[in-house]
Amino acid sequence: MKVVKQLYQLQEVDLELESNEQALNQIAGQLGESQAVNRAQAKLKLEHQHLEELKREQHSAEWEIDDLITKLTTAEKKLYGGSIRNPKELTNLQHEIDGLKTKRDRLEDKALELMDKVELTEASVASLSSQLKRLEAEWQRQQQQLSSRLEQLKTILSDLKHKRQLLLAKTDPQAVEFYHQLKKQKGTAVAKVEQGICRGCRISLPTIELQQARSGNLVQCSSCGRILFLA
Ligand SMILES: [Zn+2]
Repeated sequence: MKVVKQLYQLQEVDLELESNEQALNQIAGQLGESQAVNRAQAKLKLEHQHLEELKREQHSAEWEIDDLITKLTTAEKKLYGGSIRNPKELTNLQHEIDGLKTKRDRLEDKALELMDKVELTEASVASLSSQLKRLEAEWQRQQQQLSSRLEQLKTILSDLKHKRQLLLAKTDPQAVEFYHQLKKQKGTAVAKVEQGICRGCRISLPTIELQQARSGNLVQCSSCGRILFLA
């Protein structure tokens, strides 16, 4: 095989290597934690804390109510028990009972309100929790896809590297060295010639250059300096 064709093949392999390496890096960057999952977890945690607080408040209101009811029962027993006859004491006791009842009613309202809030928050926790599960499942599915794509790319890359080794082994080392220098300078070292035009710089080539290039020898474009390749 002519050296220019070998270099052109080397360039094809290099381009494939680069694009597959880019794809691999991109996928590697997408593997790992999910911000959406993290956010949903944080939201659920907050809502859960809120629920616990509400439940604590609800229970303490219920305990207070129980306590008030005990006090009321005792006071009412005293009032109707007949042991107190002093009118002033009786009036005071009645006032005390009225005060306790008002407090109890207020607390009962508060307990009901809290019960509603607890129910609402429980529903919200449940919905956030199923949302999180969905996100986690979706994320897991994505990660699995990405992982298998990553493995595919690793195989492709290792095949390409092998192909490259084989090409290098049969190509003149000096030509390869020159190819690398040009690649460094220009990004691509070998330019295809199509209809007498260098595809590297889009300049019409002089006949003499075309003839030389056609021979398969290493000829550079007089305009851009790339190695000319005629398929
Ligand atoms: Zn050119």
